[in-house]
Amino acid sequence: MFNPFRRETPKCPGCQRPAQIRRGRCAFCNVRVYIPRAYFRLIWLLVVVVLVATGAATYSRGHTGTWLLALLLSAIPLRIVFGFLIPPWFELGSIKYGLPFVLWYVAICVSNFLYWQIWGWSSLALVGKADARETMDFFSLPLIWISPSFYINSSRSFADVCGILFGNAFFYALATFVVYRVVNARLNRSRAIRLGISDADSEDEP
Ligand SMILES: [Zn+2]
Repeated sequence: MFNPFRRETPKCPGCQRPAQIRRGRCAFCNVRVYIPRAYFRLIWLLVVVVLVATGAATYSRGHTGTWLLALLLSAIPLRIVFGFLIPPWFELGSIKYGLPFVLWYVAICVSNFLYWQIWGWSSLALVGKADARETMDFFSLPLIWISPSFYINSSRSFADVCGILFGNAFFYALATFVVYRVVNARLNRSRAIRLGISDADSEDEP
């Protein structure tokens, strides 16, 4: 029976001994191992399921931004808890390098926040309070299309604004991440084809 308090120790896929991984290698048989992407996807999927369920149960119309911020922030402890409950597994080979979505998302959150600060101060200084509010409408996109309660205005608390900014950042991160992955996959494929052609050429050579 599944017992969350009795964790199974991950095993080395090379020698099947309890994994002691140092610098990407098994301490016993020295094979290269890595944690596959599927593991991280599974953990994040569980986090999202819990967050959606909690979000649906706790939704408050008055403070949608704060509600969203609390949900987004609770993703961090949830990720740690699930990471503890479900130990990773290893596969033979080395890490496939690439930018994970989480880092991408955090980077966009930070830049969104900074952009909002800079834009807010500069437009306040340049055009005055009423106009500044109008020029900042686009910070409410795209969540405002889902519900008008995600509109950023001057009566919003700081937590509300942060929640809406970080919620919107998710959509930007998702869109740009998909583009990044598609371009990356295409570049890799064309490089593989080029390598394949040059291999074929060299084989034809006498
Ligand atoms: Zn081993």
